[in-house]
Amino acid sequence: MAYGDGIGPEIMKATLRVLEAAGAQLDIETIEIGEKVYLSGNSAGITDASWESLFRTKVFLKAPITTPFGGGYKSLNVTARKTLGLFANVRPCVSYSPYVFTRFPKMDVVIIRENEEDLYAGIEHRQTRQVYQCLKLISEPGSEKIIRYAFEYARNNKRKKVTCFVKDNIMKLTDGVFHRIFDRIAEEYPDIQADSMIIDIGTARLADTPEMFDVIVTQNLYGDIISDVAAQVSGSVGIGGSSNIGDKCAMFEAIHGSAPTIAGQDIANPSGLILSAIMMLVHINQPKIASKIQNAWLRTLEAGIHTADIYKDGMSSQLVGTQAFADAVIARLGQLPERMEPIQFAENVNHINPSSWKLMYSTEKKELMGVDIFLDWNEGTANDLGHKLDKLVDEKLRLVVISNRGVKVYPNALPGIFCTDHWRCRFETVDGKTPIAHADVLRQLATLSANGFDFIKTEHLYNFDGERGYSLAQGQ
Ligand code: NAD
Repeated sequence: MAYGDGIGPEIMKATLRVLEAAGAQLDIETIEIGEKVYLSGNSAGITDASWESLFRTKVFLKAPITTPFGGGYKSLNVTARKTLGLFANVRPCVSYSPYVFTRFPKMDVVIIRENEEDLYAGIEHRQTRQVYQCLKLISEPGSEKIIRYAFEYARNNKRKKVTCFVKDNIMKLTDGVFHRIFDRIAEEYPDIQADSMIIDIGTARLADTPEMFDVIVTQNLYGDIISDVAAQVSGSVGIGGSSNIGDKCAMFEAIHGSAPTIAGQDIANPSGLILSAIMMLVHINQPKIASKIQNAWLRTLEAGIHTADIYKDGMSSQLVGTQAFADAVIARLGQLPERMEPIQFAENVNHINPSSWKLMYSTEKKELMGVDIFLDWNEGTANDLGHKLDKLVDEKLRLVVISNRGVKVYPNALPGIFCTDHWRCRFETVDGKTPIAHADVLRQLATLSANGFDFIKTEHLYNFDGERGYSLAQGQ
């Protein structure tokens, strides 16, 4: 457990008091993370001793922390997710209407977000003076794991439907494989409905008609965005809890940050962390205690005992601070909500064991059919570049297309296309069918370099069992 920064210590104190009063069976180790550790010169914000504790105890209840600006401090959340292998981020977004204001009183959505891959791999490069790149990496096993987790979660939690959000109309390979794996795994869960949506219209629907969704599974960046959209429309950004689940370890935290402007004033709402702690109790199979706390918490909301962030004249009966809210929950332990649905978590409900899954690993034959050579070049038009390169093509290769920002600009391109200094020059095997070797690529690069061209990167063009493993340029 870590007290964190800002409002962290006070909401953690309130949460621990509730856990203890409810009789949770916990043997707590406290670790130091966050601002103090960063400012002591540790750019990761966490010490080796803390890692040792986390790897041994395997369950982490974390209060929010403050990442200092500048100075190359790394996000502790990203580091923790990656180091502990927490591949699944689970965020229930539930309405507590009319006690917490929302336009969608029936909303009850769980967002399951892939946590380790995608654009969050952090592989970014400035390649030319004008062009920057961030790599989107999607793996088959990573996709399978998160999608399987979503279906297992749905089944265990008696959910009816899993919806997949992707953008495979544009990203046919990365999002395409995610979608294909979703369809394959959905067949193994005939008891659960499965559908998919393009992320843009899906997000619009989520903001407009959230009642139509049950469980949503998606990639890292999309999940990051839609989980905030979903939390916001449920009316409860301040009271959302979340879990981050891995094969061996798990981390539980509120979705909000350290709210430094209200820190130390005993006015913060501890509910986000209390709900995260309830998720933790379910995870470590103490469902009775989890249900007891959640029901007391619901009863407290119903009684109109509210912290300032959700207090509303007419609906609330008593404005309380952080610790008084915890006292009100403690006083109601053993009671059930009277107007909202009581909760009863089942035994082993989240006993999902990803390390027992046999993931499918593709075994297709991989053949090198060409290479995209990217040039930093700023000495003329696309036709000028094409004519120069035409004279420098290796005998094993042919220059098929040059594109700029993905759009074909040579040969026979439409005039007037805006070009940057970043050119993708596609060379394919000369007869269109015989695979090439690394040596052919190296010879082509050497020729270009000897003739003054600045190549900035290459991407190899592979076929897998004869099927193209790369996209065509727009207009190719
Ligand atoms: P924030 O969530 O801390 O605050 C956003 C707004 O919500 C503020 O007005 C704040 O007062 C309010 N708020 C948040 N939690 C509340 C609560 N429990 N009760 C009542 N009101 C609450 O987001 P921010 O201001 O963007 O970030 C502040 C700091 O938190 C930054 O240093 C950021 O890096 C960090 N942060 C940490 C985490 C984490 O540790 N998981 C997550 C997000 C942000």
